[in-house]
Amino acid sequence: MSDCIFCKIINGEIPSYKIYEDEYVLAFLDLSQTTKGHTLIIPKQHVNHIFDMDDQTASHLFANVPKISRALQQTFSEMVGINIVNNNGEAAGQTVFHSHIHLIPRYDDDDFNIQFNDHQLQYTPEELATLANHIQKEVSA
Ligand code: AMP
Ligand code: ZN
Repeated sequence: MSDCIFCKIINGEIPSYKIYEDEYVLAFLDLSQTTKGHTLIIPKQHVNHIFDMDDQTASHLFANVPKISRALQQTFSEMVGINIVNNNGEAAGQTVFHSHIHLIPRYDDDDFNIQFNDHQLQYTPEELATLANHIQKEVSA
């Protein structure tokens, strides 16, 4: 897409700190460096977000996550973990509408915050079973 900043990076119209490239994907440093080594992996084929992504694009994209995660781990000996984040939709924090996976290395003294609140008590087992059932039907629809 001509007005897409990540397509411009793929085409070399905008510079990037490149980490990995093959026929299908590009990985480069996220300029914000939320933590040291913060990296983005993007498909070369423009797709807005996960909802529009075909299985083949997803296979190529996600298949590169372990390799690049390990490369980060090897690079930063003080790294103690990694968060893999993929924002989809404005409400979910997506600001660049060319799908991308964030690899966010974790360090003992970093200031990155990701929090999963526990709302388990708000659901009965029956409600959870119904939810699972509805989603299951959509998966196989
Ligand atoms: P998201 O909020 O999930 O859509 O993430 C978009 C990310 O793209 C942000 O973390 C930005 O820092 C990053 N970003 C935007 N422009 C560039 C750029 N030219 N080079 C590298 N990272 C960028
Ligand atoms: Zn694009």
